[in-house]
Amino acid sequence: AAWDAAVAAIRAVPLDAEVQLICHVNPDGDALGSMLGFALGLRRLGFTGLRATFPGDFDVPEPYRALPGAELLVPEPQAYGKPQLILIFDVAGESRLGALAGLLDAGIPAIVLDHHASNTGLGDVTLVDPAAVATSVVADELLTRLGVELDAEIAECLYVALATDTGSFKFVRSPSVHELAARLIATGISPGDIARRIFDTRPFGAMKLAGEVLGRAILDPAAAGGRGMVWTYATTADLERHHQRPYVLDSLIDPVRGVAEADVAVVVKELTAGEWSVSLRSKGGVDVSAVAVALGGGGHRLAAGFTAYGTPDDVIAQIVPLLEANLS
Ligand code: 5GP
Ligand code: MN
Ligand code: MN
Repeated sequence: AAWDAAVAAIRAVPLDAEVQLICHVNPDGDALGSMLGFALGLRRLGFTGLRATFPGDFDVPEPYRALPGAELLVPEPQAYGKPQLILIFDVAGESRLGALAGLLDAGIPAIVLDHHASNTGLGDVTLVDPAAVATSVVADELLTRLGVELDAEIAECLYVALATDTGSFKFVRSPSVHELAARLIATGISPGDIARRIFDTRPFGAMKLAGEVLGRAILDPAAAGGRGMVWTYATTADLERHHQRPYVLDSLIDPVRGVAEADVAVVVKELTAGEWSVSLRSKGGVDVSAVAVALGGGGHRLAAGFTAYGTPDDVIAQIVPLLEANLS
């Protein structure tokens, strides 16, 4: 029923109307890829008033700047026009929308495409599939129901989204993920080139920064009921010293989560003085989504996050008792 409501809400909007697409703050590949892929699909249907944005600084991570449809991206202040429809991607709750959450109270129909079990049910039509590995799976389904045929540009966006949230297909849960990947690749896109550009290319300074941040990691084997926790942190001073943008820190959770002696991995990333974005990962011994929700954030059972305040030690002290409380 939600699918039909979403199709009807989109069909009800004139093709020349303003349509505002929004994804979450500090956008990742799934947020930008599912949003831009869907926007390109709407463009194929004939929509001419499309704008895409995300809250906060207009700082598109370098690897995503060349995504097809990136020309539709506008800074947040330009999102407060007169849209007749709002589409929201990969957003589990209002806190991930920053000031753009205000648009939800303006009486404009809002459709939410998401895959977070912790989704708080924002918007008028919520297409939230916790079984989907990425929001792009939901976007693909809605595009199909709208009668949009995939082309290479749409496919590149949806592929980047899918590859990002599955850790390059490491966290796949069903054959349907590779079936979608196959349909995307059949449009002619090059998965190898995309992977090299998005995941395997970084500035020299980002590599040096990673060396420092990983070098200060701490292993606490007793945490999480003996399952173990490994954690590290990165400050804005670290970023400045290496002349790097914050997004380069987002991939550092991957080597940290690979530590054999720990079930839980944590990276604490400074956003501004004393405010931290925290990434949590689990191998299954702890429900880190429950931990994140308890601290005002959200996510999935094995990958979650929240915003925290204080020092890195303060942040870890908040997390440790919640690990004990959420063993699985
Ligand atoms: P990451 O650690 O890659 O930033 O995020 C991992 C997962 O947790 C993603 O699904 C992301 O949407 C979610 N997440 C990260 N930070 C936050 C947050 O501050 N609030 C909420 N609700 N979810 C978050
Ligand atoms: Mn995301
Ligand atoms: Mn996602």
